[in-house]
Amino acid sequence: LTFEEANLCQTLNSNIAKAGYTKLTPVQKYSIPIILAGRDLMACAQTGSGKTAAFLLPILAHMMRDGITASRFKELQEPECIIVAPTRELINQIYLEARKFSFGTCVRAVVIYGGTQLGHSIRQIVQGCNVLCATPGRLMDIIGKEKIGLRQVKYLVLDEADRMLDMGFGPEMKKLISCPFQTKCDERTMVFVETKKKADFIATFLCQEKISTTSI
Ligand code: AMP
Repeated sequence: LTFEEANLCQTLNSNIAKAGYTKLTPVQKYSIPIILAGRDLMACAQTGSGKTAAFLLPILAHMMRDGITASRFKELQEPECIIVAPTRELINQIYLEARKFSFGTCVRAVVIYGGTQLGHSIRQIVQGCNVLCATPGRLMDIIGKEKIGLRQVKYLVLDEADRMLDMGFGPEMKKLISCPFQTKCDERTMVFVETKKKADFIATFLCQEKISTTSI
């Protein structure tokens, strides 16, 4: 499989070429077709394997296929994709990749994390946000305060989910997985773990919510 054959979209292919990517990494080769086919995914992949692009590219391709445009309607500026990762460093890296791949499109990516003013995070979201990159604590604070519209969410990505469990974010992850936006069949959940050890445990959360994932 090549990026051209992956059936992403023209703008994405040109941003991928600009980034200097010529060949898909193994995790990209397996994940991209699964996500493009609209299936839920549980993937075991290490940092450095190219897993960020493995979920970002098919999600962005879907969003562009749906014809995302700059909208004056507030509800269309609510997040369509929420990505959660355990640390500021990691979520910032994901945000920068989202910016890089969505360059030249109307997709607006936003990053929020703890240790900054809550008001700043809220303003970022309210100004319009299609892809929200967040650490779990800050995201749950904002959801708790009802400062975020969740009606448009179609993709939930939990990156380094095993590390989030080790850090004590199990309850936050469980809440997110069972969030009302995760109940309808056209919504997708993608979970990435570094080791297989915790995958079974996380799979039981998903099972309880009737989300059956394809594992790679
Ligand atoms: P990640 O595992 O997502 O943190 O990615 C590790 C590094 O590999 C990042 O610097 C990416 O920009 C880069 N990368 C991801 N996919 C590819 C690819 N297909 N070809 C070359 N570099 C890539």
